[in-house]
Amino acid sequence: MTAIDPVCGMEVEPETAEWKAEYKGHTYYFCAPGCLRSFEKDPEKYLKPGGDNHSDHHAAHHT
Ligand SMILES: [Zn+2]
Repeated sequence: MTAIDPVCGMEVEPETAEWKAEYKGHTYYFCAPGCLRSFEKDPEKYLKPGGDNHSDHHAAHHT
C-alpha cells in the first residue's frame, strides 16, 4: 500500500521511504528531504481539514 506525500502529492512506498514525520499521531511519508522540511515548517498548510485542492478548483467553475 502506498502513502501520499502531502507536500507534492507523490506516491511513496512506506516500506522504503527514507523521510517521514509524525504529526498528530499520524505518520506521513515524503519523497525527498525537501518535502519533509516543508511539511515540518508548516504542517497545517498541507493538512487542511477536508483539504482537497481539486474540489476547490471545481468550485471556482461555477455556472
Ligand atoms: Zn514530495
